[in-house]
Amino acid sequence: MSRVYNFSAGPAVLPEEVLREAAEEMMDYRGCGMSVMEMSHRSKMFQNIIDEAEADLRELMQIPDTYKVLFLQGGASLQFAQIPMNLMKNRVADYIITGNWAKKAWQEASIYGKANKAASSEDRTFSYIPDCSDLPIDPEADYVYICENNTIYGTKFHSLPNTKGKLLVSDVSSCFLSEPHDVEKYGIIYGGVQKNVGPAGMVIAVIREDLITDDVLPGTPTMMKYKTQADAGSMYNTPNCWDIYICGKVFKWIQSLGGLQAMKERNEKKAKILYDFLDQSSLFRGTVVREDRSLMNVPFVTGDAELDARFVAEAKKAGLENLKGHRSVGGMRASIYNAMPLEGVEALVKFMSEFEKENC
Ligand SMILES: *Cc1c(COP(=O)(O)O)cnc(C)c1O
Repeated sequence: MSRVYNFSAGPAVLPEEVLREAAEEMMDYRGCGMSVMEMSHRSKMFQNIIDEAEADLRELMQIPDTYKVLFLQGGASLQFAQIPMNLMKNRVADYIITGNWAKKAWQEASIYGKANKAASSEDRTFSYIPDCSDLPIDPEADYVYICENNTIYGTKFHSLPNTKGKLLVSDVSSCFLSEPHDVEKYGIIYGGVQKNVGPAGMVIAVIREDLITDDVLPGTPTMMKYKTQADAGSMYNTPNCWDIYICGKVFKWIQSLGGLQAMKERNEKKAKILYDFLDQSSLFRGTVVREDRSLMNVPFVTGDAELDARFVAEAKKAGLENLKGHRSVGGMRASIYNAMPLEGVEALVKFMSEFEKENC
């Protein structure tokens, strides 16, 4: 068996310990004679799995009792619709456009009401986070929406916007559990799990309880009401059992490493190695303004598309996979999520340094 260093933006690298444990339990989960994929979601065995996953997540994120945790399907993209369906009582919301995912969320919300662009960084290819200290917040806005870490462009909100008292809704798909989150600052904090937490196919939404009501937009399908899911403990219908199980293992893995503060320190250390190299490199450069850099997604270029392509191909041969940048940006992108070991980042920088010597 040989594993590569996988820099994919998502689905992405998972902790080896978690994969090994799941493999061991595949034929016979804790003496019940079947795998978790084969058991009823109504069984006591599975109820324990989901309860423990929720309890561990609550402990990790220090989620107050006044918030619900929902394990939902449809990925982060279905939340782009579910959020306005449940929250847009005045049919107005403010969106801060910092990349493709925020833009898609804004476009979807426009189906349901007046979705304002409160700020945008599109003028410079989303390479920075706009100043959000004094935005023209619509007095009628039901919420203010951000994408906290921009997976494609590699920017991150290092401080949250001033919403002038409005509810904050945040997509944290690509920075979920990468550092402590102050849950009380959000109305909804949610993320697709396939970037930093688990396998593809699930989104975790942490929602302030008072926002979960029957007062939704007319025509909202039963399954799209947060209340339906909350009342049924995320099991109104068959949930993504496998994903809940693996995410539960990842939560325990993070706990074993010391929790989210320890995760943050680990991630800062890894990112620093890569950014320090980029800052002194004569061949490569990062594409994001320094103060808004993400700890998770690091885009960089040589400035020569052909050389970029050669770099990606040669890196692959050296066991460094999925370094090609998103099709909308080009160049390279190294996603260095929680489960990417320090050694992976060191190997990447070593390879970049050799490539630079050969091509300068
Ligand atoms: C990947 C991603 C999405 C889309 O996730 P899906 O689960 O594929 O719908 C949304 N937002 C962000 C920030 C992402 O990185």
